[in-house]
Amino acid sequence: MTVVRTRIAPSPTGFPHVGTAYIALFNLCFAKQHGGQFILRIEDTDQVRSTRESEEQILSSLKWLGLTWDEGPDIGGKHAPYRQSERSAIYKQHANQLVTDGHAFHCFCDAHRLETLRQQQQADKQMLGYDGHCLQLSAQEVAEKLAAGESSVIRMKVPREGVCEIDDLLRGKIDIEWSNVDMQVLLKADGLPTYHLANVVDDHLMEITHVIRGEEWINSAPKHLLLYKYFGWQAPVLCHMPLLRNPDKSKLSKRKNPTSITYYQRMGYLPQAVLNYLGRMGWSMPDEREKFSLADMIEHFDLKRVSLGGPIFDVAKLSWLNGQWLKELSVPDFMQAFQNWAINSDYLSLVAKQIQPRIETLSDAVNWASFFFAGTVNLSADKFTHKKLSTEEIKRILQYALWDFEQLRIWNHDQISLVLSQLSAALGYKLRDFMFPFFVAIAGSPSSTPVMESMGILGADLTFARLRHAIDILGGLSKNEQSEWQKHWSSLKSVDSTSEDL
Ligand code: GLU
Repeated sequence: MTVVRTRIAPSPTGFPHVGTAYIALFNLCFAKQHGGQFILRIEDTDQVRSTRESEEQILSSLKWLGLTWDEGPDIGGKHAPYRQSERSAIYKQHANQLVTDGHAFHCFCDAHRLETLRQQQQADKQMLGYDGHCLQLSAQEVAEKLAAGESSVIRMKVPREGVCEIDDLLRGKIDIEWSNVDMQVLLKADGLPTYHLANVVDDHLMEITHVIRGEEWINSAPKHLLLYKYFGWQAPVLCHMPLLRNPDKSKLSKRKNPTSITYYQRMGYLPQAVLNYLGRMGWSMPDEREKFSLADMIEHFDLKRVSLGGPIFDVAKLSWLNGQWLKELSVPDFMQAFQNWAINSDYLSLVAKQIQPRIETLSDAVNWASFFFAGTVNLSADKFTHKKLSTEEIKRILQYALWDFEQLRIWNHDQISLVLSQLSAALGYKLRDFMFPFFVAIAGSPSSTPVMESMGILGADLTFARLRHAIDILGGLSKNEQSEWQKHWSSLKSVDSTSEDL
């Protein structure tokens, strides 16, 4: 019998998302319950957006949760490397194979032609997609163009008629018409693969038997199944899990709920509780008990019992469950959890450096340091009263800074300081006045340790949460403000970049 092998294949393009942990958990449970293996593969084909920092954060967050894999970029395995950027030659060879076999073709259309085509299709209210232009080239014409060094991509051929039937483990049969499937680029002009080619080639070479992933990938399934057919490979079993949702049923988004695993870590949720809560997303134990461990879940797991109604990720419910876990720990385990969270020498040494120069007795330390350990700080609108800045200006400063911060890829004191000094100059404030709202939002008081350092120590997640909380306390943004301010904020950016260009 074949061994069950599942995988999680995150793209390291941002913070570690709870949705990634949720899919990883279900893949792990499925594999382990069948005595199989669970693999972690990094899909960093998007060279512009992928970063090593993001990869490291994803790996360490999943490890923090207690999820482990049998093969991966950090531990190797029989199908190494597990990072797609290190496997380029494999994809190129497979793309060329498809061309040789007549399943894919070189496309020489330039960006201008594709844009004109897109506009035309939009105007004609047609389905957007490649029109097959380069399929008409003769073999000789293609050879001449390639010999002349013309830039080209490789696209897959896709039938224009008929229906692709997808057999989904949870959803049964799903039909997608081939006419709705684009002739996907497989290999880009720079010789690097797109997600679709790399994903299929790797799932096959890594002997993945079951692809369990989020429902947002259903529309990619026809391309993938066709590629398996073209290569003459057996396709894995497909299973598309329901998306996590906010309590208002919209797709889980950081605008409405913190979605980064590191946020929950910093807020002092127990990893077991977060995993337990994710296990309750669309699934339940046969006896419906709410509190269960990863081992319990593996033992009783049954993928077919996943319900498709969008599971609601509700922070209040997670907090309740976390409370249950905390209360039921033995005192030594509780102390250990407390230390692991933030009462350890790594974190204390960062905090100590900030407060040591400012206190007279050690008992002063608690007051000075409390905001480094709190989740949110106690705020009220009157704490933001300032002799030069109006409430509206303060709200605007905090919001613009938040938008700037959200674009940072690396979170450290230098980056924070650069963002804030540039923003202060762009808005025409003296840095001293400009910094006032940050002291209050982050530390709860205008007289506290240097606030840029504090933000660096607290980390991006808690900083964002406190800035959002402060903006809410000041009345939040109206729809109008949201769009007007966003426009103004973007215009500040374009001024910045032109001046840099000059
Ligand atoms: N790299 C994709 C992602 O970021 C993987 C999707 C899949 O599992 O096929 O989620």
